[in-house]
Amino acid sequence: MYEGGCLCGQVRFAARGEALNPHSCSCRNCQRHSGALTLCWVEFPKGAVQWTGEGGEPARYRSSDYSSRAFCPVCGSTLGALDDEPVVALLLGSFDQPVQPALQPQSHSFADGCPPGWHP
Ligand SMILES: [Zn+2]
Ligand SMILES: [Zn+2]
Repeated sequence: MYEGGCLCGQVRFAARGEALNPHSCSCRNCQRHSGALTLCWVEFPKGAVQWTGEGGEPARYRSSDYSSRAFCPVCGSTLGALDDEPVVALLLGSFDQPVQPALQPQSHSFADGCPPGWHP
């Protein structure tokens, strides 16, 4: 069981089971959505994630044909992406304990979006 949430605490999540496909990404969508050069992601089946905070489910922005970016409507924290397919991708920075072996990113997508010589 993993738990996490946004900066203000209105939107909270609990995710059960194995965190799949831990990876970092430096694509333009991730950069624009967060303001950061690189984001770190893990994925869960939709049914494994519950939104447990007072604010319920996060607000959404339709960012592509198949996915929406999720964020807190109160504080603006980015929390992840909700795919049309049954996957919820959560951002490691929103986890209560973001640094642990099972969440270690294993690959880096769109690495050319980073400055030369910088290897997150
Ligand atoms: Zn918030
Ligand atoms: Zn990305």
